Amino acid sequence: MPSIFTRIIQGEIPCHKVAETEDCLAFLDINPIARGHTLVVPKQEIDAFFDLDDGTMASLMIFAKRVAGALDRCIKCKRVGVMVIGTEVPHAHVHLIPFLQERQVSVTAPKLKIAPDEMAEIAASIRAEWDAGS
Ligand code: 5GP
Repeated sequence: MPSIFTRIIQGEIPCHKVAETEDCLAFLDINPIARGHTLVVPKQEIDAFFDLDDGTMASLMIFAKRVAGALDRCIKCKRVGVMVIGTEVPHAHVHLIPFLQERQVSVTAPKLKIAPDEMAEIAASIRAEWDAGS
């Protein structure tokens, strides 16, 4: 059975997309711990992050770097934090978390309640930065 992220990549399940290349997709986390919390995923479905082959890992991280640049330019933050967990969704992914305070970058950080309209606005502003930079 395809992962939830494969179903998002295939357009079966909606997402707030922020950036896309031939190999990778970035979209807002449905339960964000920070404004602009973004998931960066390879289109190839591989469960564990460190099982990605070198080429896929390289293109994912270069994509993540470019997405982080777009986040940094449009979300007020101290830095863009990076987390790899992967215990909930068995499809390799990187969390990009624009944070103001270090404690936000934690698996135990409280989830934010952001209305769907606001999620759509956040995604559109990141997408505009992505489009301007590519
Ligand atoms: P992890 O596997 O790294 O522990 O966590 C998976 C992340 O994916 C969680 O932060 C969760 O909120 C997010 N997530 C799970 N299902 C969906 C979904 O259907 N759409 C989106 N946008 N994010 C999801």
